[in-house]
Amino acid sequence: MKPDLFEAPDYYNLDELLTEEHKLVRSAAREWVKREVSPIIEEYAQKAEFPEQIISGLADIGAFGPYIPMEYGGAGLDQISYGLIMQEIERGDSGIRSTASVQSSLVMYPIWKYGTEAQRQKYLPKLASGEWMGCFGLTEPDHGSNPGGMTTNFKDKGDHYLLNGAKMWISNAPFAQVAVVWAKDESGRIHGLLVERGMEGFTTPETHNKWSLRASSTGELIFDNVKVPKENLLPNKSGLGAPLGCLDSARYGIAWGAIGAAMDCYDTALRYSKERMQFGKPIGQFQLQQKKLAEMITEITKAQLLTWRLGSLRNDGKATSAQISMAKRNNVDMAINIAREARQMLGGMGITGEYSIMRHSMNLESVITYEGTHDIHLLITGLDITGLNAFK
Ligand SMILES: Cc1cc2nc3c(=O)[nH]c(=O)nc-3n(C[C@H](O)[C@H](O)[C@H](O)COP(=O)(O)OP(=O)(O)OC[C@H]3O[C@@H](n4cnc5c(N)ncnc54)[C@H](O)[C@@H]3O)c2cc1C
Repeated sequence: MKPDLFEAPDYYNLDELLTEEHKLVRSAAREWVKREVSPIIEEYAQKAEFPEQIISGLADIGAFGPYIPMEYGGAGLDQISYGLIMQEIERGDSGIRSTASVQSSLVMYPIWKYGTEAQRQKYLPKLASGEWMGCFGLTEPDHGSNPGGMTTNFKDKGDHYLLNGAKMWISNAPFAQVAVVWAKDESGRIHGLLVERGMEGFTTPETHNKWSLRASSTGELIFDNVKVPKENLLPNKSGLGAPLGCLDSARYGIAWGAIGAAMDCYDTALRYSKERMQFGKPIGQFQLQQKKLAEMITEITKAQLLTWRLGSLRNDGKATSAQISMAKRNNVDMAINIAREARQMLGGMGITGEYSIMRHSMNLESVITYEGTHDIHLLITGLDITGLNAFK
């Protein structure tokens, strides 16, 4: 793969909206990605393996629990810093960002918000340092966009719960030490349970043959009469709103992450357009190529503004789920389109692993599907503005 020469576009001087702390956090993450991710990511994506050696580095840049309080091992940062870390990691690879998102927003967040003090003390410091990795089991083979239909369930057996069912498409599942699992109780109400590797009847087979997020490990969670201790139930929130609260936090991170992938594709195509000569000129001198680049930077700039504003709203505790949906949907769509256009600008070279664009393009096919598909987020906006439910 080519050396990482990435320079971030900032067409509207958005850096002026950032604090010194934001810039420091971003710069640490950017340098780490250049040093630790860019040199190895192509090889790991090609062999479809998660590079486990980067876990401690992810912890060092604050990627595990950026906004979790320091008393639990988190970085205690604000929402914009969290977003900037996700942007920089996804600039390197969406699969690596997925690992960090799951750990922070789908595992640490529910333990912090819905767990007991004993659960926080037991799990959060280990998850923040990367000593333990976690995963989040919501999706099932027959229930993806409609998680409320889940059939995974647990029964109260007096001194423990008995868990049965299966989850599918679970990021980090093959190596996670703890899974936040969403399951229905005997009355049909959804709760979160902390299921640890090693519990009898709990297995995590890996999912193979992915053409997307190849450097992220994905698997199933299978529960065959798993005895879960009663103290492993997350007591402070139940119902579908509990997992959806985690998804808000993760989707917000994805909105930033997608900008990172788009920036990398744009920056690569811009540099290539000035170097690649055809018909005696750099291809960047042709109007058709300039149109592509001009539209890319316009879309990136709009997404940066939208997302910065969303971060400010989240810092004030004012962002709605529907606002987060809009940003996730817009930014991932923006990034996937930019990846496609940028890939074309590199001609044949664009399909090789010499450059990052094709990998981003394939990765974004998962990002546009998980944490609510492109269609589902549109329905959320539709419901929000009309008050009419088009889901069913
Ligand atoms: C690589 C990867 C990693 C993932 N990681 C995780 C994870 O860590 N944890 C987890 O729980 N899940 C995870 N997922 C699952 C992901 O969230 C689901 O794939 C996603 O929610 C879509 O569900 P589905 O695949 O079953 O598609 P379906 O729900 O079957 O949707 C199929 C199509 O139908 C459309 N559709 C569905 N309902 C409607 C409707 N009402 N109106 C109009 N159109 C509709 C959808 O938009 C989509 O286009 C992951 C997925 C992938 C690919």
